[in-house]
Amino acid sequence: SARAAHDEADRPLLPVATAAGSWAAVRTELGRAPGCAVGTLALGVLASALSLVAPWALGRLVDVVAAEQAPAGADVGRAGDVVPVLVVLVLGALGAGVATGLSAAAVSRLGARVLAGLRERVVDRVLRLPPAVVDRVGAGDVLARVGDDVGVVTRSVTAVVPQVVASALTVVLTVAALTAVDWRMGLAGVVCLPVHAAALRWYLPRSGPLHARQRTAQGARSQALLGSLRGAGTVRALRVERAHVAEVEARSGRARDLAVAVFRQFTQFSSAVNVAEAVGVVALLVTGFALVRGDVLTVGEVTTAVLLFLQLFGPLGMLLTSFGEVQAAGASLARLAGVALMPLPPAAQAPAPPADAGVRVEGVVHHYDGGPPVLRGVDLVLAPGERVAVVGASGAGKTTLASLVAGELEPAGGRVLLGGADVRELDDARRRDAVVLVSQDVHVFSGPLGDDVALAAPPHLVGAELDAAVRRALDVVGALPWVDALPEGVATPVGEGGHALTPDQAQALALARLVLADPAVAVLDEATAEAGSAGARGLERAADAATAGRTTLVVAHRLTQALSADRVVVMADGQVVEEGRHADLVAAGGRYAALWHAWSGTEGRSGSAA
Ligand code: ADP
Ligand code: MG
Repeated sequence: SARAAHDEADRPLLPVATAAGSWAAVRTELGRAPGCAVGTLALGVLASALSLVAPWALGRLVDVVAAEQAPAGADVGRAGDVVPVLVVLVLGALGAGVATGLSAAAVSRLGARVLAGLRERVVDRVLRLPPAVVDRVGAGDVLARVGDDVGVVTRSVTAVVPQVVASALTVVLTVAALTAVDWRMGLAGVVCLPVHAAALRWYLPRSGPLHARQRTAQGARSQALLGSLRGAGTVRALRVERAHVAEVEARSGRARDLAVAVFRQFTQFSSAVNVAEAVGVVALLVTGFALVRGDVLTVGEVTTAVLLFLQLFGPLGMLLTSFGEVQAAGASLARLAGVALMPLPPAAQAPAPPADAGVRVEGVVHHYDGGPPVLRGVDLVLAPGERVAVVGASGAGKTTLASLVAGELEPAGGRVLLGGADVRELDDARRRDAVVLVSQDVHVFSGPLGDDVALAAPPHLVGAELDAAVRRALDVVGALPWVDALPEGVATPVGEGGHALTPDQAQALALARLVLADPAVAVLDEATAEAGSAGARGLERAADAATAGRTTLVVAHRLTQALSADRVVVMADGQVVEEGRHADLVAAGGRYAALWHAWSGTEGRSGSAA
């Protein structure tokens, strides 16, 4: 496993974008909906601006009330001044609440939109990666990009980004408003910032690791508890309850200590923030009353300034504490953008399509990832329309040969030609047109059964035409009766969470996909079905119908498939050891004859009689 870890570290991973690259990728997505982006920003500015109304109105109220008390025998008209301010105060507070909610929703919707565009591009690039590249960079990295990284960015886009955007706008507008009241007040408000910044500088690098340790300790506690519960019988039988209780206690103690430490740390941090806040308020009040004395400001204006200042701390703390999360999201975004920005292979370079349906396998050697040789120089020619069966013991290299012919694997040496074109150099679309592999384990995608088959359809088929083609393909492989008997027919959901299909049914769907894709060359590496069973006979008929008229390489698990082939190729230990027509090989009395006698002597009789 040390070797595996070493290999892992040495693997060339998929590209990671720079900060500028990430931003460029996001800007491209934003540019697709410029109205949406501008509208979202405008809504954010409106929400932040409305949050300035309450401090202003309260300050104004102080001035109105003060003015009302000043002259002796105040007239009733003064009371009228209070009402509009109160109305503005209430409307402003309501408006700010509504606009803040709308703005958060708009930001997260815009974020989700950007992310969806980015994800689409990433998935598109990933799906176009040649299987050999996926092999080289490791499926793990590919999966991490489309799974984990998208998850991290999604969480950040829906939860963190809206708050960060709102906070940033509020901080900027509030500082501007404070300075608009009087520049000296703005200056006084800023004196506490060093204290606040110092508290954060102390807190941020410590809180992350401590939280991580706390989570680990909680995990260990649950683990110990779970272990004791699972082994409760054994614990009792061995009379070691006491030791176990001590163990769980010790781990619980550790988790509790860390929880206390986390709490203490946070308390220290918030005390420091409170001190910063108090310093700021004192500075503002001292400055403010000096300005009131000098007749520069009214008491109401000072009130407004203090309220604005207090409103600054929430967004500021939010901005600084979410720094870590924003950083993590940035790292994931860079990994996504790296893939999204990968250039697509230029279509112009694609070689000419295969000239005919012949297959040539020339001196192919192969091994997996530094392992022992699996194919050791295989030569094989399939004439257009010819049907060749490959037989041999398990591990002989049949599946490997099938994958190479279908272009799913890149040979370590030698080459595979489809109609004279190297299968590796065909672009994806041409390769799919030329050859289809029905592999041992069929993957059925979740969704309606008909959609699963339709995946293989050529792009020009759509709508009713596509539906008809899907039904025809299902009919060719004899699947229509059981498909129509499903609760919703072709619309029945299958795959994960859907109607469970038997392995035979899944194979039939894969064969229907083959029919719909209509390639010149078919490669079949079917799952071993019980020989002579009704399922096996049904599948054989389906496979024959699906491959009729195509150049076909079939890995024969049941020798009835070899019987119906034009030619049989026997593989052993990565090499072709015999080749010829069934009858000739049986007559020759070599390996194939031995295989045949063994097979037809046991379970084959019912199969071959059918
Ligand atoms: P067959 O289909 O004739 O049973 P395979 O082509 O599946 O033979 O396998 C040939 C050899 O290659 C076996 O020794 C098998 O263990 C090995 N092999 C097959 N697939 C892999 C893989 N993905 N990684 C490593 N070794 C593999
Ligand atoms: Mg196999």
